[in-house]
Amino acid sequence: MIGLSDPSRQFRFLSKELLREFEVFIGSGAYVMGERVASLERIFAERTGSLEAIGVANGTDALILTLDALGIGEGDEVITTPFTFFATAEAISRRGARPVFVDVDPVTYNIDPASIEAAITPNTKAIMPVHLFGLPADMDSIGALARKHGLLVIEDACQAFGARFGGRPVGSFGHAACFSFFPTKNLGTMGDGGIVTTSDPKLAATIRRLRHHGSPKKYYHDTIGYNSRLDELHALILLAAMNHIDEWNERRRALADRYRKALGQMSGLDLPSEPDRVRGVYHLYCVGSDDRASLLSALRQAGVQTGVYYPCPLHLQQAYRKLDYRPGDLPVAERLSERLFAIPLHPFLSDSEQDRIISVFRDNRRAK
Ligand SMILES: *Cc1c(COP(=O)(O)O)cnc(C)c1O
Repeated sequence: MIGLSDPSRQFRFLSKELLREFEVFIGSGAYVMGERVASLERIFAERTGSLEAIGVANGTDALILTLDALGIGEGDEVITTPFTFFATAEAISRRGARPVFVDVDPVTYNIDPASIEAAITPNTKAIMPVHLFGLPADMDSIGALARKHGLLVIEDACQAFGARFGGRPVGSFGHAACFSFFPTKNLGTMGDGGIVTTSDPKLAATIRRLRHHGSPKKYYHDTIGYNSRLDELHALILLAAMNHIDEWNERRRALADRYRKALGQMSGLDLPSEPDRVRGVYHLYCVGSDDRASLLSALRQAGVQTGVYYPCPLHLQQAYRKLDYRPGDLPVAERLSERLFAIPLHPFLSDSEQDRIISVFRDNRRAK
């Protein structure tokens, strides 16, 4: 089976270095909030063009703690995309605020800036764009809207470390940005982890306190916080991965280019494309077809793993029944949920494995 992603190949590649570091780590006695987390935070801030980075337990917590630190909660609205992983909106709801879903762009699958403005009310506090599948959202338009209406911007960059918009790295556009290190993300660890980036020192200090029980000083607590720290063990793994992430992202881009050249010859397929000034990292490679079911079954029979991202847009999820959205409310997101599916793309996918995947499409599609 060719996997959609294959974290084990990545960690096997790093294993010599990891085992060496692990020996040292065992003897260190410092397993939580030690020097590795501090180094990772420094490197991460620098790499995202931010003043600070704060390691937390996972990407969902990164979003929740950020919203909390920004004072977003009961009675507030946050405008976001319905076409994302559930955690984006879940974090907003977890704070007692209301996610307001607006439709996405049919080409980039990212939140449509033109739809945001119409959804702004006196209760709107923030816009939360997602850089979906590793492709940056339109941060120029979103930034301009936020300035015009006095709104905060929180980037959900959980799928997009290393992606760029207008030459600038994601994680540097919002008041804060949130990243996930779940194993299958383009920058992942062997478990859960996350980080928040921001250039607001006060916000950074608040998130640092929140992640550690609202405690600025041992056994003194300013506020009710969380236990949401990034483990040293994960920082150790991520520091090793950081040395290779640029090559890995480049390999992802090269594979996306090979897919584009080969699959672009076939009719009836929508392929990912990069708008001007946008550089994606292809966390996932999703193609669209009105014949999804038969392609999925042909790929499965050929030993190729696939995945549907996402089969149910968030406004139609059971959990959001009480928000009272109806089918047809956000037609672009709904149509994408019926057409898109992911095919394998990860840095350790070989050219010959990719050729095997392409040949399944060749055998099942007409040429243009
Ligand atoms: C993975 C993901 C999250 C949540 O990250 P976890 O580390 O799994 O909590 C949030 N938003 C998006 C867009 C994601 O892909």
